[in-house]
Amino acid sequence: MRNRVALITGGARGIGRGIAEAFVKAGARVVVADLATRADGDWSYDLSDASDLDQTVREQSAFGEISATAVDVTDAASCAAAVAATVSAYGGLDILVNNAGVVQSGPIDDFSESAWDNVFAVNTKGIFLMTKAALPELRKSTSAAIINIASIAGKKGHRNMAAYCGSKFAAIGITQSLAAELAGSGIRVNALCPGIVGTAMWLEHLLPTNALEPAQQAAEFEAAISQTIPLGRPQTAADMGAAALYLATAPNVTGVSLNVAGGIEMN
Ligand code: NAD
Repeated sequence: MRNRVALITGGARGIGRGIAEAFVKAGARVVVADLATRADGDWSYDLSDASDLDQTVREQSAFGEISATAVDVTDAASCAAAVAATVSAYGGLDILVNNAGVVQSGPIDDFSESAWDNVFAVNTKGIFLMTKAALPELRKSTSAAIINIASIAGKKGHRNMAAYCGSKFAAIGITQSLAAELAGSGIRVNALCPGIVGTAMWLEHLLPTNALEPAQQAAEFEAAISQTIPLGRPQTAADMGAAALYLATAPNVTGVSLNVAGGIEMN
């Protein structure tokens, strides 16, 4: 990883921050890209803003080279600007991590068209737009890799999750198609499928808790989730960092969708 340049979308917090930490500690030069202003609209939990990006850079710069840029992955011009900012900071781009993602859930009868469109705009079209913007730089790299953060929700459907599961099945299909298409250019494309990680998606939307203190929130989450997982604990952002590091460096691996889920999903 030493001196390779990585761009991580949705890198301001959560799993993206965990991947940034693993990459920086391994010697990569990392740009974390995320929304720099609060997202507007009908949203059931807060997405990141500039203060989250600042916090990631502040914390991780203790370990190595990292900087931040704003991106909205649903906007082609914004994706191009994030790639340009990466090249201007570090001179190229070797690894793209399409991690930005959103969740909305609920019965289909009550699910709004705008929520459906928002989920697909970020989780699937975002991969398309970011990859398209990054490709000219990735083609110049001798060690190019794309890692799409899909989900175990992309392996099996769940009630009240049609939009999210649909968008993550799509992410795996996009991964396999691009792996086949870009292999000739020496660009590996893999998906990482996290299991259950106690980020905003779970703590503020899927399994909200009344606890106010982060430590108590984490303890309640762990107690609720642990019995459902064969290995007996929820996954962490650090688990995802370790797996992303593997996919970034495994020279003959492309087109896989790697579960990091403690055995909840085995296919
Ligand atoms: P999170 O909400 O903490 O992080 C998601 C990040 O994406 C946020 O920082 C958010 O601001 C950013 N984002 C959202 N819309 C964006 C946009 N249009 N442009 C740029 N950035 C945008 O949640 P997380 O759990 O860290 O999620 C990271 C990825 O992991 C997502 O793709 C998610 O679907 C996936 N995932 C999470 C879990 C889990 O259990 N938490 C499980 C499986 C997959």
